[in-house]
Amino acid sequence: MIDTPGIRELGLWDAREGIDDTFSDITELFDNCKYSNCTHTTEPGCAVKKAIENMTISSERWKLYCQLRNENEWGKNKAVNICKQKLRNKISRT
Ligand SMILES: [Zn+2]
Repeated sequence: MIDTPGIRELGLWDAREGIDDTFSDITELFDNCKYSNCTHTTEPGCAVKKAIENMTISSERWKLYCQLRNENEWGKNKAVNICKQKLRNKISRT
């Protein structure tokens, strides 16, 4: 369904634009979040969480996006680490 071509090469990228462009299906969802400062972790009305629940985007893909963004600019953002942990738990349970 949703493919992630050349994902290994992404590890070499450090441009936020490159990541957001590659994951445009995810970043477009951010506009639909209820809160403009949504961290996409625990907020009610989060479009990302909804999309994962609806299988519009896979949790694996979201996790990957979090990882890449985390490595680039969200390194100090605890919310993303929480997000990664939650998804890791979710995946290990399935
Ligand atoms: Zn959100």
